[in-house]
Amino acid sequence: MASDNGAFTGKEEYMLEIKEYRRVGSLEEAWTLNQKKSNRVIGGMLWLKQSRARINTAIDLSGLGLDQIEEHADCFRIGCMVTLRQLETSEALNRYACDAIRDAVRWIVGVQFRNLATIGGSIFGRYGFSDVLTVFMAMGAEAELYRGGRVPLWTFVNRTPDRDILSHIRLPREEGSFAYLSVRNTKTDLPVLNTAAAVSGEGLLRRLVVGARPQKAMPVPFPAEQSLALSEENIRALAALAGEMVPTGDNMRGSAAYRSHLVQVLGRRVMKQALLRGAVSGAVPGAVRGVVPGAVRGAVQGAVSGAVSGAVPGAERKDGAGC
Ligand SMILES: Cc1cc2nc3c(=O)[nH]c(=O)nc-3n(C[C@H](O)[C@H](O)[C@H](O)COP(=O)(O)OP(=O)(O)OC[C@H]3O[C@@H](n4cnc5c(N)ncnc54)[C@H](O)[C@@H]3O)c2cc1C
Repeated sequence: MASDNGAFTGKEEYMLEIKEYRRVGSLEEAWTLNQKKSNRVIGGMLWLKQSRARINTAIDLSGLGLDQIEEHADCFRIGCMVTLRQLETSEALNRYACDAIRDAVRWIVGVQFRNLATIGGSIFGRYGFSDVLTVFMAMGAEAELYRGGRVPLWTFVNRTPDRDILSHIRLPREEGSFAYLSVRNTKTDLPVLNTAAAVSGEGLLRRLVVGARPQKAMPVPFPAEQSLALSEENIRALAALAGEMVPTGDNMRGSAAYRSHLVQVLGRRVMKQALLRGAVSGAVPGAVRGVVPGAVRGAVQGAVSGAVSGAVPGAERKDGAGC
């Protein structure tokens, strides 16, 4: 600890200790090293460096070309070393995501921070407050593990953490649209609550995910008999049901009661926003054709003019798959 005049006293408290550093040449080498409990994979180290961990060997994956966002016909494959800033600025990814990914990461601390924080560290950390987990879970993402293969994100984050390496996040392409919304007490603070929605091409709710409850993100388990058609009336009914079904808790950022209220408000808005973005871009033709009874008819008109004026961001996609 430094003395009052700023001079070092020799009693400095080190938060994180690393004995050796290894920039590995293969995932096999990383996996083998990671089997030893005292060794740790490092991403951007932003979370790790806040801990008092004593690491024997820090395993750096930065030499393995895992900092790429690959675009395939059936999916996006995102390497674990891709930064939050890359996610935010990828045109192709955000065109597909209707800007939901950009909306999810844009308030995380600041650009310099997002230039370092990785998607691997964000997902592997399974943080309750995570914006990243919420949006990727809503988009039907899968975790690709070096030894464990492909696992739905929901399954992965609810497993006891093991010593496998998360190599990629895979986003299967789905027809339809997405949206993401959060509430924060101040702009770059952790979220009080966050939500993301995926809507099918026919204008049906595919997933509604709620995170920062403050527990980690979960898809709302609507009963099988519940209609998922996104009419104005049903959006309200689904949001009210979500408010009852999603367990919430208290912490310094908000009470359980406030969060349950937010589940309803954000849930309603996020479903509507996903539907509108899809309707305007043509990715949810079901909404425009009126397949969904009473779906956003007036709102679509407003959204079309909003898209022209830029008030409905992420609505510019015209290729029909996604937003
Ligand atoms: C001050 C602060 C504010 C934040 N605010 C937000 C916020 O508002 N919203 C939000 O969503 N997030 C927030 N975060 C989390 C942040 O965005 C990152 O998710 C977090 O820092 C971890 O990313 P990292 O790359 O730094 O991982 P690291 O800190 O390097 O690693 C985190 C953990 O993941 C493990 N790990 C990393 N990569 C892999 C891999 N490929 N395979 C296996 N294990 C791996 C590490 O061993 C470690 O246990 C915040 C973090 C901090 C420190």
